[in-house]
Amino acid sequence: MIKEANDIADVVGSYISLRPVGQTFKGVCPFHDDHRPSFDVDPKRARYRCWSCGKYGDVISFVQEYEKVEFAEALEILARRAGIDLENSKNFLQNRARGAMLDAVRWAADQYHQCLQESSLAADARSYLSSRGLEDEIIRQFGLGFAPGKGDWLLAKAQNDGLDLEMLEQVGLLGRRTDKPGLYDRFRDRVMFPIRNVLGNTVGFGGRIMPTSPMIDRAPKYYNSADSTLFSKSEQLYGIDQARNAIAKAGYLAVMEGYTDVMMAHQMGICHVVATMGTAINARHLRHLRRWTQKVVLVFDSDAGGEQGVDRALELFAASDMDLAIATLPEGLDPCDLLLKDGPEPLQNALDNAVDALEFKLGKVLEAQNAPGASLEAGKKALDSLLAVLSRVPVADSPSAALKVQLMLARISKKLGVHEQVLGKRLWELKPRTEQIRETEQQTEQRQAKPAPEEKELMELLLANPDLVERAIHEIPLDQWNHPGLKQVAGVLYALQDEGTKPEVDVVRSRLADSPIASRLLGLADNGRRNPDPFDWYGKLLKRFKEKATTPAVRVIKDKLHSAADHATALELLRNLQSKSVDSSLGAVQSTSPTTPHGDGGI
Ligand SMILES: [Zn+2]
Repeated sequence: MIKEANDIADVVGSYISLRPVGQTFKGVCPFHDDHRPSFDVDPKRARYRCWSCGKYGDVISFVQEYEKVEFAEALEILARRAGIDLENSKNFLQNRARGAMLDAVRWAADQYHQCLQESSLAADARSYLSSRGLEDEIIRQFGLGFAPGKGDWLLAKAQNDGLDLEMLEQVGLLGRRTDKPGLYDRFRDRVMFPIRNVLGNTVGFGGRIMPTSPMIDRAPKYYNSADSTLFSKSEQLYGIDQARNAIAKAGYLAVMEGYTDVMMAHQMGICHVVATMGTAINARHLRHLRRWTQKVVLVFDSDAGGEQGVDRALELFAASDMDLAIATLPEGLDPCDLLLKDGPEPLQNALDNAVDALEFKLGKVLEAQNAPGASLEAGKKALDSLLAVLSRVPVADSPSAALKVQLMLARISKKLGVHEQVLGKRLWELKPRTEQIRETEQQTEQRQAKPAPEEKELMELLLANPDLVERAIHEIPLDQWNHPGLKQVAGVLYALQDEGTKPEVDVVRSRLADSPIASRLLGLADNGRRNPDPFDWYGKLLKRFKEKATTPAVRVIKDKLHSAADHATALELLRNLQSKSVDSSLGAVQSTSPTTPHGDGGI
């Protein structure tokens, strides 16, 4: 319904300029550096395609790509655009509950904010914030609030306003009493920092206890909303809604540790900053961030504990395709204090002079080696600690991580004057045994196995014709799918059918939003729709699946052959196949099934 209400030419036309050509529209592609109009929009088929870079999809994927948001967020944008009440339209996403949760959190944010602005209960909180140097305007911009210490302040407001108390319990604002029946406020005597998602919706809170609170000795200083379907501590970034537009201009995003650090930076005009939610930055953060930038700068206070943080960052940097740099602040000051003391320049300088994580660590190694009176052993130990970090990077599953580690070794070699081969050998020694085995296995196996043609075609049919899924569940069990990506999709299709939801491609896309294969589903479904007689074709494919299932050894070799990378491998497999066809009872071959554990390789 959201799709129908948003004409693709209208929507795309509101982002880029389109010119009608016959039944379709043409424009300059927004997804690559296009110089002549390569971008086609076909309103009748509700699809776009770039003939140059190959981008293809519908109105939802366009908004996803252009706004750099996820599937559910793109739906929200389109719903708002068409004036559709999401409550009624996205039940197919089973997101009705999410809407109600968002409403409850928004209501609470308003109460806390109003309290901080006006209530006599918040007088101490107001003077605390102004003593921290935060101005009214920035407090309003970030929607700060105050939760009084009474224990039933929010509860009473909710009862008065007729709110669904269970919903407030579900989002972690009310808790259930253990001593007697009833509910209580979970946030008490705390300054409330609303945590907002990219679209600016509040999804949770961080609460900082008042320094004057009688509970200060037994309560944690910071307390976050519990994880829910709205809020995940290890994914959320504080201030991302405010920072989002400043990232492109700065060319990177800076990540700090505290909420007030972020607010103070904004107050001083440094807007491309966010904070993690009391956790170290992780791969999930990076996955979100790469939508906006290729480069992240971590801001470390140069106090103790920083060393470990640097090692973790280096490991993350090596394993991802993003650039991670490290900015260090003058001794003993957090960003907020530094900004208050000296204004924005020292922080801006620290950000400008951030060094990439490897360079940073190399500097430490050199420092240890060149320290006056340093022993050879100390130098070796310092180098070992660097290689140990790199040895933890899981390169077996990721050719790009493997390449990056290789490049890093080359840099280390140049800088320290140690031969690359020596470094490589030492790195290998430092790896855990299991990782060594995995790597050896992987090197002899195909990395990007393509799916067998019948698997790909069957998936196309199923995605185009959800009615076929009911048959497929019984006739083609999950273990007959070999390609890991397609198997994952089949699993979702089957699960949806089982739970009584029609397994339509858009539902599958929303369920697999995190998976690399999600972006391919629409193309597969559209291929399937071109089949004039899907039911007949399904029968044919089924037969091919059955044949394969009865001759596993041959099947495995055939699949390998299909995806063989080079001529020599293919030839050997072919020889192997010829001998096996005679005796297909060699089941042992099955144990080396050519599946890739990750990615959607080759589709
Ligand atoms: Zn393009």
